[in-house]
Amino acid sequence: KLASREFHPANTVVDVDGVKIGDGNVVVMAGPCAVESREQLLEAAKIVKAGGAQFLRGGAYKPRTSPYSFQGLEEKGLEYLAEAREITGLKIVTEVTEVEAVNTVAEYADLLQIGARNMQNFRLLREVGRCNKPVMLKRGLCATIDEWLNAAEYIMNEGNSNVILCERGIRTYETYTRNTLDMSAVAAVKHLSHLPIIVDPSHGTGKWRMVKPMSFAAVAAGADGLIIEVHPNPAKALSDGPQSLTPENYAEVMKGVYKISDLM
Ligand code: PEP
Ligand code: MN
Repeated sequence: KLASREFHPANTVVDVDGVKIGDGNVVVMAGPCAVESREQLLEAAKIVKAGGAQFLRGGAYKPRTSPYSFQGLEEKGLEYLAEAREITGLKIVTEVTEVEAVNTVAEYADLLQIGARNMQNFRLLREVGRCNKPVMLKRGLCATIDEWLNAAEYIMNEGNSNVILCERGIRTYETYTRNTLDMSAVAAVKHLSHLPIIVDPSHGTGKWRMVKPMSFAAVAAGADGLIIEVHPNPAKALSDGPQSLTPENYAEVMKGVYKISDLM
């Protein structure tokens, strides 16, 4: 299999327009869950940049649990992301939720995100596999590691080998946390695959207080990076406020992350 360590023993380093993921340095992607407005996004981008992250995240197409929740700004949101890149130099990672939007999202984004809900949307996987942009593939809500690696296989089999895996927690019987962050998946994937793996402690826990310890744990476990939700004012966020860091907390998490990565 294309994603397996047996097939390709050396670690794959994914180069996203000059930023390397999987080369031993920790790469951080941070930003709001959703692009809500130009002002919100540009404010978030400044905060993200100041903390030292290399990528700005922000959903323009949002896969929401309820159809009555904010669904995203779509192409307008992509325009704001491109403007934020222009101003800050940050790379852009954003989710694509449907086959029809792949080309549009690829025009604006540096890295395409496939969300947990679409991990087994095989047509979408094939479509991003045919596009010349790197892909960040989140683990499905209830996916085994084997199913997740097979999803990566769908993308790679179309000719796109620039795949980054993202552990974002899985559903278990535990209800205190939004998901159960499977930190052991980092070690498992490192053994089974040559692909880089990053961790999302925000969706992985659903609680901002747990983002710092889980970020530190992920780096210590050997993750190649982190994707973290940060909002200029989490209390006013249109989505995922309870798991979003304030600017102050984000700055503190970043300092610790780089200290731990220096030790590794
Ligand atoms: C997100 O990154 O905002 C998101 C929707 O994540 P997930 O697909 O992991 O739920
Ligand atoms: Mn979110």
